[in-house]
Amino acid sequence: MAVQAQIAIVGSGPAGFYTAEALLRAGLDCSIGLYERLPAPYGLVRYGVAPDHPKLKSVTAVFDRIAADPRIRYCGGVEVGRDVTLAELEAHHHAVVLACGSPIGRQLGVTGETLDGVMSSATFVGWYNAHPDDAAVQPQLDHPTAAVIGMGNVAMDVCRLLCTDVGNLAGHDAAPAALAALAGSRVREVHLIARGAPGAAKCTVKELRELGALPGLAVRFAREAAVFEAGEPTDLVSEWRALAARPDPPYIERTLHVHFYSAPVAFEGAGRLAALRLRDSSGAATTERVIQCGLAVTCIGYRGRPPAGVPLDDRSGVVPNAGGRVRATRAGSRAGLYVVGWLKRGPTGVIGTNRADAVETAACVMEDLSGSAIEPRAGSAAIEALLRARAVRPIDFAAWQQLDRWERERGLACGAARVKVSGLPEAYAVLDAAASTPA
Ligand SMILES: Cc1cc2nc3c(=O)[nH]c(=O)nc-3n(C[C@H](O)[C@H](O)[C@H](O)COP(=O)(O)OP(=O)(O)OC[C@H]3O[C@@H](n4cnc5c(N)ncnc54)[C@H](O)[C@@H]3O)c2cc1C
Repeated sequence: MAVQAQIAIVGSGPAGFYTAEALLRAGLDCSIGLYERLPAPYGLVRYGVAPDHPKLKSVTAVFDRIAADPRIRYCGGVEVGRDVTLAELEAHHHAVVLACGSPIGRQLGVTGETLDGVMSSATFVGWYNAHPDDAAVQPQLDHPTAAVIGMGNVAMDVCRLLCTDVGNLAGHDAAPAALAALAGSRVREVHLIARGAPGAAKCTVKELRELGALPGLAVRFAREAAVFEAGEPTDLVSEWRALAARPDPPYIERTLHVHFYSAPVAFEGAGRLAALRLRDSSGAATTERVIQCGLAVTCIGYRGRPPAGVPLDDRSGVVPNAGGRVRATRAGSRAGLYVVGWLKRGPTGVIGTNRADAVETAACVMEDLSGSAIEPRAGSAAIEALLRARAVRPIDFAAWQQLDRWERERGLACGAARVKVSGLPEAYAVLDAAASTPA
């Protein structure tokens, strides 16, 4: 009888689910353990995508169908590197695929970045999306001015959240504490700052248009000429020009100030952020100026944080790999260890980009497994035994679905799509309470 391939996938974001799907579709005789450190699956679809973009989150129905395959054993609340080591996974599986994403906000590396009031988009987005790691975050919304650094889609999300009426966020799945804080926010001026030219911004036209369309939002350009002098007008440049040319709304609630060719050189303040020092450079001239502000959110990308023992390229923040095979050295790969998604290629692309990426990594797994005869391995059964011995309690997919129902019911009570479980302790309490309630 042929030996069944035992595969572990670490991380249940889009890349993890799409890898499982690709392996299953390829007809491989396999059993897949899918490990997730949080109480809930779906990665950044749940904790990154903005609450006012609920349609994008419907992709979770695709992931649910993948999880329903009996060849998948989903284990939530299990962190690889804390509850079970990578070496243990490698010992009990024929292949381990790292789909851990890139959770760490990149640093600018300028003075004052650790001041209170300066935070990365990873933290700010986690705060409004109720990520368990960011439950204690309290952005400084008591100053009329905030700065957002970077011009990718994440920066657009952050600006939109700061500039929108909180009523547009209610009814979805934002953290109740964030909604309350945003309702009381004093922020009226948001400065959006980018090093490069209008055409070099990384945001999409769609996201920029959505930001510009917020009711009551006036848009100002620190150097309006920069918008019109940019060479060949791409769709994005045309969108900037349309924003620059449009009249102010009848009532100005908030103002977005856009700065091109401008880079932060220091965050200033005594303990708490009071001002952002910028260096403007265009042509040969370089000047410095200061914006008084109480909050600065840096949206300049993300870095991976793989389990201990996995190489990480310091410059790119990804795991060195060849098409998904983890490189141990410049010349060779580490047998049986693979990477996929943001941890493989960096924080680029949309949710669907991870599907093609997963197909590539899964193809490497398949090729390596078919190359030689494999010895039987115990797979997720051995890992679950280890977890039991360590009193770690995995949340299987049926338990997650119970939590999902509980979140939706809790949401109903306050007119929201859901109120997310705050972390593992609350998840276990909810599951225990349900178990002790007579049916
Ligand atoms: C703020 C923001 C907004 C976005 N908005 C959109 C959007 O509107 N539309 C769009 O198409 N794309 C959007 N994206 C991009 C999209 O979310 C990503 O392409 C996608 O989530 C990356 O998938 P991933 O599986 O590689 O990583 P992730 O989604 O980050 O998933 C990684 C998973 O691994 C888990 N994990 C990490 N380490 C461990 C460990 N040691 N043990 C167990 N589990 C672990 C994490 O908890 C997480 O669940 C957005 C991204 C961000 C940051």
